[in-house]
Amino acid sequence: MSAAWTQTAATLAARVRGREFSAEESIRAHLDRVAATDPRVRAFLRVREERALSEARAVDARVAAGESLPLAGVPVAIKDVLHLAGEPTTCGSRILERYVAPYTASAVARLQQAGAVVVGKTNMDEFAMGSSNENSAYFPTANPWDLARVPGGSSGGSAAAVAASQAPLSLGSDTGGSIRQPAALCGIVGLKPTYGRVSRYGLVAFASSLDQIGPFARTVEDAALCAQALFGRDERDSTSAAQPVPDFAASLGSGARGLRIGVPEAFIASGLDPAVETLFRAALDDLKREGAEIVPVELPHAPHAIATYYLVATAEASSNLARYDGVRYGLRVEAEDLKRQYGETRDRGFGAEVKRRIILGTFVLSSGYYDAYYKRAQQVRTLIRRDFERAFERCDAIATPTTPTPAFRFGEKTDDPLQMYLADVFTVPANLAGLPGISLPCGLAGGLPAGLQFVGRPFDEATLFRLGAAYQRATNHHEARPPLD
Ligand code: GLN
Repeated sequence: MSAAWTQTAATLAARVRGREFSAEESIRAHLDRVAATDPRVRAFLRVREERALSEARAVDARVAAGESLPLAGVPVAIKDVLHLAGEPTTCGSRILERYVAPYTASAVARLQQAGAVVVGKTNMDEFAMGSSNENSAYFPTANPWDLARVPGGSSGGSAAAVAASQAPLSLGSDTGGSIRQPAALCGIVGLKPTYGRVSRYGLVAFASSLDQIGPFARTVEDAALCAQALFGRDERDSTSAAQPVPDFAASLGSGARGLRIGVPEAFIASGLDPAVETLFRAALDDLKREGAEIVPVELPHAPHAIATYYLVATAEASSNLARYDGVRYGLRVEAEDLKRQYGETRDRGFGAEVKRRIILGTFVLSSGYYDAYYKRAQQVRTLIRRDFERAFERCDAIATPTTPTPAFRFGEKTDDPLQMYLADVFTVPANLAGLPGISLPCGLAGGLPAGLQFVGRPFDEATLFRLGAAYQRATNHHEARPPLD
């Protein structure tokens, strides 16, 4: 039982259902693993020892009563941007340090309904703005593969927790790459679903037209298992889609044969680390050997995606973050008049990157500049979406590296926000187009993981899982574990 933490979510749940061991034992083993590794990794902002164990006993009672729970006794780690009733949601910010969530996010509730147990809330860049976790107001999470390097961001805590085998599943949010980029840097699987697939009810908003919740896992099978529980229409989020959710497990074994993979060579040509490129080419060869056809595609407007994203996302953030005024939520710094109270609260509560985004977003929305920036960005966003529509006439999924480089060192990019923003070059186009994207571990470059990304048609996560499962059957990159033990 001591090695429960080495098992996949699928295996754990099957064993708990089969009464080989209890949910309580499963959770206890993972809490022990957290205690052994998190002093070094620091993935968690808060661990829920007692509550997790008592919730696990409730899962055991449901199993004993004959409920067939797909995630029975599976520990999950939740990014601290999602609400869990009665517990803090800090968003990695000082401004929400004492905020307690009054309700549970739909995505979290669905996992609990399926038998999963939340073991804790994970660290993140403040309000999900960042690519390294260095923007957390609390502390930086380390990359389990090299503790001197970043885990990626903004869902770095959730990615590091799964990479360190502290939990087989975790949830993150992806506005411009915040699931796929840390998944790539930590050597695990990360899925950003199609916009509308997962209810955002109970997700603290960053950029509402881009935000999606999704899973981290060590295998494609586990990511699909989690997606099966997460996906589906929710009355409490008007943007959640009524699209039917296929049985993902059924198509996992279908193989890559007959699938066409588009490669946008011109887009991926610049700024790519040679070692990452070598692993990417090797992955394409593996997929070809598995029967996939590689076809050239073009995404002519994709090079503008970063600029477009930083106009759209900051504009939406400036509006979403206006609510943190010291009156309704979290931190309040008292001052002699209301206006000063707003100012002091926001000055003390927000970190530098969040302030930078609010100022930028307010500027691009201001009269006189709206047409030149925000409106323009929306038009380019449409062109990017059309590029994908055209490309998908020729292929079933598009492959790129997930990130141009492996994990960088702490402090390496903190003085240059533009360098940091470039970490998202391959991930933001899918957010702007609302498309699903998955990152898979595709090998080590100098001992550090690199990621292979597939982007799919709207609501076609099934093809991403199918390709991913075929790739993981043909290779063993997903079995590599960080040197923590
Ligand atoms: N790194 C990007 C940013 O800072 C993406 C963040 C995200 O996806 N939440 O905006």
